Amino acid sequence: MPRLVIRSSDIHAAGCFTLDDIANGTRILEYTGERITKAQGDDRYDGREFTYLFGVGDGALVIDGHGMAMFVNHSCDPNCETDEEKGRIYISSIRDIAAGEELTYDYCLYDGDDPAPCYCGSKTCRGSMYTREELRRQKRVEARKKKQAELGAKKNGVSTNGAGKKR
Ligand SMILES: [Zn+2]
Repeated sequence: MPRLVIRSSDIHAAGCFTLDDIANGTRILEYTGERITKAQGDDRYDGREFTYLFGVGDGALVIDGHGMAMFVNHSCDPNCETDEEKGRIYISSIRDIAAGEELTYDYCLYDGDDPAPCYCGSKTCRGSMYTREELRRQKRVEARKKKQAELGAKKNGVSTNGAGKKR
């Protein structure tokens, strides 16, 4: 197993770095932590800027990250990916990784209503940790809300200033 270290990262706060070369296709570490329901996770992290929740299976259960894996940052051009086997989540390399590199995988966030900006700095950065599909969904929801606010305003004859804006 490669030796890993947690230290400050240019991507975000702290990151997980390897001290050894890692070959492509290596299972590096497991995403460990308490298993709770999605609702419990939402409660636990309500109002907090960051969560370390990882959806398992159909997403009804989440792992509340505890350990090395929770420090692995998102990148839109990652060197690792996650895979699930019998309800356990593993982080594996998807290319050769050199000693000293930071480990990253694509968080592919979904189902969110808080912004999740990405600062990975890769050429293919999509500016968000949400999937492209989820970003399209959020745009549709936003457009629908706006339209409804406009229609509602017409009906009630009130100004829409600030309406439909969150917080
Ligand atoms: Zn990015």
